[in-house]
Amino acid sequence: MIPTETETPIEQAKRTIENLADALMDIPIYTVFASDEPPSALLLDGWCLGCTSRSFDLALQPWLEAQGHWRGRSPAVFIDDIHLHRIAFEEANYSEDTHSIFGQTLTGILLHELAHVAESAPDFDPPTPENHGRAMALISLSHASEADLARPANWGHGPIWVRAALHLHQRAKKIGHATDIQRIYCGADYDIPEPTECKAALKSEKRLLAGVSIFNIRMIDAPPDYQDLWSESET
Ligand SMILES: [Zn+2]
Repeated sequence: MIPTETETPIEQAKRTIENLADALMDIPIYTVFASDEPPSALLLDGWCLGCTSRSFDLALQPWLEAQGHWRGRSPAVFIDDIHLHRIAFEEANYSEDTHSIFGQTLTGILLHELAHVAESAPDFDPPTPENHGRAMALISLSHASEADLARPANWGHGPIWVRAALHLHQRAKKIGHATDIQRIYCGADYDIPEPTECKAALKSEKRLLAGVSIFNIRMIDAPPDYQDLWSESET
């Protein structure tokens, strides 16, 4: 997206987030915002501030094509910027801090979803009716009510996700996008080890893996302290 002088602060924040996603993942990412008005049938129910799935881009493909934005397969994430802007307004008590808090909440949700993207290799298989069908089936699964699904306590936020999230948090900070770690957790209680403990346990690899693609970190053994932390939490 090319910057223009008529951009509103919200448009500027969205563009910043799109650029950050591409920079952190080293591949183009479809960053879709609620204010872009994607088809509501593709999105999780109202409580969800962000979502992604391995084939989410395929579900969005017809809509992205209609917008002239489809450029082939690539991971896609959704962010509810409208809801987040309201939260930022309330947190800032309607002051001028809203813009800075909004930027931090957007960054937090983006890092949350990108950490899910980094839990597996990106799916670049060409679109077919079969994988498009699988993408749509995943969407309907995400619409199932909580009671219908046998979910683990951490709701899919295990050691691979946390490790990717903490590396992304560090990398974003390094390129000028600092945010509180708690914003990545979106205030949710996943019943997992504290982020500060996880961060301390990963200390030894932070600089060591700084140049490694975020997609490859999961293939390298985590430091023993980190593995111990998670095995203690499961007992
Ligand atoms: Zn999540």
